[in-house]
Amino acid sequence: MFENVKAIPGDALLALMMEFKKDPTPAKIDLGVGVYKDDAGLTPILPAVKKAEALILENEQSKGYIGPAGAPELAPLLQSLMLGDQHNLIREKRIATTQTPGGTGALRVAGDLINALNPNAKIWVSDPTWSNHFHVFAGAGIEVRTYPYYDAQQNALAFENMLAAIHEIPSGDVILLHASCHNPTGIDPTLEQWQQISDLVAERALLPLIDCAYQGFGDGLEEDVQGLKLILEKSPEALITTSCSKNFGLYNERIGALSVVAAEPEHCNNVFSQACNCIRANYSNPPAHGAAIVTTILSDQALRQQWETELSEMRTRIHRMRTELVKNLSALSDERDFSFIAAQKGMFSYSGLSRDEVKYLKDKYAIYAVDSGRINIAGINDGNLGRLSQAIAEAIDR
Ligand code: PMP
Repeated sequence: MFENVKAIPGDALLALMMEFKKDPTPAKIDLGVGVYKDDAGLTPILPAVKKAEALILENEQSKGYIGPAGAPELAPLLQSLMLGDQHNLIREKRIATTQTPGGTGALRVAGDLINALNPNAKIWVSDPTWSNHFHVFAGAGIEVRTYPYYDAQQNALAFENMLAAIHEIPSGDVILLHASCHNPTGIDPTLEQWQQISDLVAERALLPLIDCAYQGFGDGLEEDVQGLKLILEKSPEALITTSCSKNFGLYNERIGALSVVAAEPEHCNNVFSQACNCIRANYSNPPAHGAAIVTTILSDQALRQQWETELSEMRTRIHRMRTELVKNLSALSDERDFSFIAAQKGMFSYSGLSRDEVKYLKDKYAIYAVDSGRINIAGINDGNLGRLSQAIAEAIDR
C-alpha cells in the first residue's frame, strides 16, 4: 500500500519557521508564526494559568474520561464569557456548547456536523482567510468557496464587493465570519458594517459559522464580540467556534469549544447530540487539562480578574507596537502611508509588503514574514523595532 505514495509538500509557514530556527543571525526577527510574544520575545505562561494549574494539581482526583462534550462546568462559563450572563440565548436554552481540542478541533467538528446535516451545503470563507480553514473543511468533505474581503489597493475591507458576493450565496449554505482580529489581514468590519452583514446573512437564510479565536486581543473582551452578537440577534441558527489558545495562552493544551445556536431548545438539543456523535467518531473525548485551567480561572473571581488584566497587557502591547511601527515608518520614509497598520486589530497585519520586499527582508536582515506580507505584530518588541523599521524603510525605498 505504501510503496507508491508521494510525499505532500509541508506547510509553507512551518517550513519558514524551520528556516528561522536554523538561521544563525543573532538579530533575526520572527514575524511569521501566529503566537503571542512578550517584549522579551517569549511566549509566556500567564501567571493566572500557573496559579490555576497549582490548584488543579492539588485538587485533581481522577484521570477518568470526561465524556465527548467535555467538562460540563466549562460550557456555561464560556457562553457567558462570550455573550454575558443575561443573554436571551442562554435564558431560553437555545445555545449548547461542547468542549473541543482547540479552535481547530471545533472547526473540524463543525465541518463534520454540517456534512452530517446537509452534505450539499457549501461553506463560504473570506478571501483571504486562515489557510487551515480550507484543509479542515475539505477534510470534513465540504466544498469551500470564497467571498471577497480584502481590498489590496486601499489596504481595507472590500466591503461593497463582500456584500454583493454574500447576496449571491445560495440560501442554506454556510458563511464563515471571523468574530474579530481577522486572520490574516487584521481588518475587521465596523459595527455599522456588521449591522449590514448580519441583516444580509439573515435575509439570505445562510447558516453563520463564527470563528471566535481572538476574543480580548482586539479592543476588549466585550468589544470583540459585538459583531458576533449582532449576527446572533438576526439569525435564529448559528455555529460558533471558540479558541482559548490565544487569550489564555494555552496553545499546546488544545482547548476550545463549539456552540450550537438554534431557534428552539429542542432543535438545539438534537443538533448538539449530532455534534457529540461526530466527536465520538473523531477523537471520542477531549483532553482535560486545558479545560480545567479555563474553568478554574473563569469560576474564581480573583483569578478571573488577574487573567483579564494579563490579557489586557497583551492587547495593549500589541496596540503599542502597531503605533510605534507606524510612527517609525512615517519618520523614515515618505514612500508609503502605513497608518492603516495602527487601525488593524489583533496580532496580525496585512502589511502591504510585496513578496519581493518580504524576500529582501529575509535575505538581507533575517526578518521572517509570510509571503503574503502578513506580519505578526506580537513578534515586534522594543529591542527589535528600530532594526525592523530601518529594514522595512530600506526595502520599500530601493
Ligand atoms: N481560527 C483562526 C482564525 C485562527 O487564527 C486559529 C489559530 N491560528 C484558529 C482558528 C485555531 O486555533 P487553535 O490553535 O485553538 O486550534
